[in-house]
Amino acid sequence: MLPDYQEIEYYDVLILGAGPAGATCALRLRDSGLKVLLLDKAVFPRDKICGDAVGGRSMKVLAGICPEAAEDIRALPEKTSSRRTRMDFGLKRSFEISWVLEAYCCRRVDFDNALLEGVKKYAPEISIREGFLVNSLEKTDQAYVVGNKTSAQYFKTRMLVACDGSQSFVAKTLNGSKIRLKDHAAAVRTYYSNVKGMEAERTEIFMLPQFAPGYLWVFPITDKISNVGFGMLSDSISRKKVNLKTQLQAFIQASPELRERFAGSEQLGKLEGFGLALGSHRPRMSGDHFLLAGDAASLVDPLSGDGISNAIISGREAADTVREAFAQQRFDAAFLQRYEKNLFRIIGAEMRRNTLIMRILTNAPALVKIGAWVLGFRWAQWVVRRVL
Ligand SMILES: Cc1cc2nc3c(=O)[nH]c(=O)nc-3n(C[C@H](O)[C@H](O)[C@H](O)COP(=O)(O)OP(=O)(O)OC[C@H]3O[C@@H](n4cnc5c(N)ncnc54)[C@H](O)[C@@H]3O)c2cc1C
Repeated sequence: MLPDYQEIEYYDVLILGAGPAGATCALRLRDSGLKVLLLDKAVFPRDKICGDAVGGRSMKVLAGICPEAAEDIRALPEKTSSRRTRMDFGLKRSFEISWVLEAYCCRRVDFDNALLEGVKKYAPEISIREGFLVNSLEKTDQAYVVGNKTSAQYFKTRMLVACDGSQSFVAKTLNGSKIRLKDHAAAVRTYYSNVKGMEAERTEIFMLPQFAPGYLWVFPITDKISNVGFGMLSDSISRKKVNLKTQLQAFIQASPELRERFAGSEQLGKLEGFGLALGSHRPRMSGDHFLLAGDAASLVDPLSGDGISNAIISGREAADTVREAFAQQRFDAAFLQRYEKNLFRIIGAEMRRNTLIMRILTNAPALVKIGAWVLGFRWAQWVVRRVL
C-alpha cells in the first residue's frame, strides 16, 4: 500500500534511468533551479550490452550541453576514434565511408559511467539514487508517485522523464507497449582480443547472403580488443527461427576473410544479447506529466542500430521541454506534445529515410545484392557519403 501522498518526498522532475538519455537530460537541467532526482536500478559503473560505437552527433550534442563532461569522455583511456566504416558484403570489393564528426568506439561501461560522473561533478545539485529499481507507478492529482514496492520507498514528481531503456517499465505501464517484431531488433555481442587486420580508426560491418538481413560488426575498442556482434530484425529472427547465439561463430566461419582474421584470437567474456527498440514506428512519447526519451521512446536508428545519439538528443529535448513546462506551469499532454514535435524536427527525416531503406533491405534481399554491387563503384560511394 502506498504511504500518505503528503508525506512522500517531492521532486519537480524525476528522471528514471541514468543511461545516455537520462544522464544527458540531467546535465541539461543543471542550473535550472528545479529539484531533480535521477534514479537507476544499477550501481555505476554498469555494463550495457552494445556495439560501443558512439556516433558523431553524441559528442557534438554533449559538448554543446556540458563541454567539461565531453572533455572527460575524450580523456577516457580505453577507446578508439572512429573515422571510417568499411562495409563488406562478401563481394569482390568492399567499400569505406568516412565520417566527419568526432566519433568513438568506447565500452559502454566506461562511456556511461563517465557521463554519470559528469552529472555528479558538473550538476552537483541534482540528486542521484543508484541501485533503486522502480516497479511502482501511480498517477495522482497533478503528480506521479514512483517507487519500489519491496522497500516501500516512493517519490512524488510533477514531471516524470522516463529514460529506462528498451524494456521501459514506464512505457509498458503508461502506453501498454509490447514488442513489435517488425520494429524491434535483437543482437548479441562479445569482445575478442587480437583479431588480425584491424586498422586504426576503422569500424567494419559484414553481410553475407545466408545471414541476411542480419549483419556482423567488428569495432576496435583498443589496438588489441574488439567488440564483435551480430544483429537482426526480430521479425526475421522469428520467421527464420534463427538462434542468434550460434550465428556469430557461424558467420565468422562462413567468411574466408573473417575465419583467417579470427584464427588465433581469443574471446573475452560471455556472448550476451539484448533488444533494440527501433524508431521505425512512433509510439506516444508524452502525456500528462510525463515524457519518454531514448530507447524508452523507441528511438534507435532502424538502419544503423545507433541509439546513443538519439538517446542523447532526446534527453536534451526532454530537458528543454521540462524547463518550458515549469516556466509556463503547463504539464498537460497538449502542451508536452511540443517535445515530440521538436525532437522529430531534428531526427524525423533521417528516421523516415532509414526506415524505408531498412524495410527494402529486409523485404527484398535481391536488391541488397544489387546495391552491394553498385556500391563497389566510387561514384556510388560518393553518393552514399553525401546522403549519410
Ligand atoms: C547488442 C546491441 C548493440 C548496440 N550497439 C550500438 C552501437 O554500437 N551504437 C549505438 O549508438 N547504439 C547501439 N545500441 C543501442 C544503444 O545501446 C541504446 O540505444 C542506448 O543504450 C539507449 O540509451 P538509453 O539511455 O535510452 O537507455 P539505456 O542505455 O538502456 O539506459 C537505461 C537505464 O535505465 C535503467 N533502468 C531500466 N529500468 C529501470 C527501472 N525499472 N528502474 C530503475 N532503473 C531502470 C537501466 O539500469 C539503465 O541504466 C545497441 C544495442 C544493443 C542491444
